[in-house]
Amino acid sequence: MNSAHESDPLHGCSPATLCVHAGYRPGPASEGVVAGIERSTTFQQNPASYAAIRAGRGPEVPIYARYGHPTGAVLERRIAALEGTPGSVAFSSGSAALHAALRAALSVTRPVTRPGAGAVAHARQLYGGSLDLLQQSLAGQGTTLRAFDVGDLDDLERVLAAGDVGVVLCESVSNPTLVVADLPAIAERCRAQGATLIVDATFSTPIAQRAAAQGADLVMHSATKYLGGHSDVTAGVVSGNAEWTARVWELRKLYGGCLDPQAAFLLDRGLKTLALRMRAHAEGATRLAAFLESHAAVERVHYPGLQGHPSHDTASRLLSLPGGVVAFELGAGDEALPRFLARLRLALDAPSLGGVETLVSLPTVMSHAKLSEAQRREADMGPGLVRVSVGIEDPDDVIADFERALAGLSG
Ligand SMILES: *Cc1c(COP(=O)(O)O)cnc(C)c1O
Repeated sequence: MNSAHESDPLHGCSPATLCVHAGYRPGPASEGVVAGIERSTTFQQNPASYAAIRAGRGPEVPIYARYGHPTGAVLERRIAALEGTPGSVAFSSGSAALHAALRAALSVTRPVTRPGAGAVAHARQLYGGSLDLLQQSLAGQGTTLRAFDVGDLDDLERVLAAGDVGVVLCESVSNPTLVVADLPAIAERCRAQGATLIVDATFSTPIAQRAAAQGADLVMHSATKYLGGHSDVTAGVVSGNAEWTARVWELRKLYGGCLDPQAAFLLDRGLKTLALRMRAHAEGATRLAAFLESHAAVERVHYPGLQGHPSHDTASRLLSLPGGVVAFELGAGDEALPRFLARLRLALDAPSLGGVETLVSLPTVMSHAKLSEAQRREADMGPGLVRVSVGIEDPDDVIADFERALAGLSG
């Protein structure tokens, strides 16, 4: 192992360096400094490729583009290096990636580990589309769902005590109130029960946190957000050990949720600046959160970088950056939201997050529209709630935009 490490120019390099160099180096096969886009859907075979396939190394050989392609392989190696996992599998969306991760975890847990352990325990605070996937796809096919509060380990223990949970799903940082999951503690409880832990790490990114090192069995991202980072590619990715990624690869092949080479190239290009962008997002979000907290028209700010946030200590312990999403509540409540949005001149009113441009969106209308009044209170979402995905603009310009939009809204 040591000699392999010594010959690897990236051994010991930090994430910013891996973003730029992992996954591809020029060599005899191609001297281009940047890996090209390979559009072929089928690949010529030879004795060496047949030997590799026979030896069970099919996923490493270009055969047919739905199984995998060279452009996707570069991307997957770069992401695996960033996650610190042996493998990574790219998908056409975050939803397709999550679906495959859940199916992979269930397929193992149910028949192999403990017969009957088919229930999925999931954080109550999940992306709305992920809740829909659980409820409409899994629950509809007989899987029992059990929800827990991701900020409350006792609640997770209560759910695990039922004894039938084979899979646990949570987000590293949840939307929109930014509760930070205590991954090492959650993983310990999963291990004690023999349950597989899937972590949706979309909000934290491998720059702020290596979820696998903190105990996740499968790490999943909507790469549409920070990994791509430019609001121009829809993609997802699942990372984990060799056994998990082999299963997930089989499921991608089976269901066909593969990523197009063009999209893989765009995502891979975005990844090269991920570390740089995450630092800028976090700096902008930290500045904006502090400004909002001091503003008379703002009732409350949700940002794990702030001292008063319920997850502040967990974030300091587990995340190297506090992230780029901030949520806040207008003192004047929901009635003031249209006026506030109409006065923004720089920030765009659009769903999604993680791009270079600052976006605002209203969780109660968009991502959390299905919640009742009582569920909103339970989820700690007060009236007048705005979610901000802080971009990489100059923080002074973003703050000036919010200052203008907030003027005269107090009371
Ligand atoms: C957007 C998002 C998803 C879904 O990803 P798509 O790329 O839109 O399919 C899943 N989880 C989280 C946390 C998200 O923000």
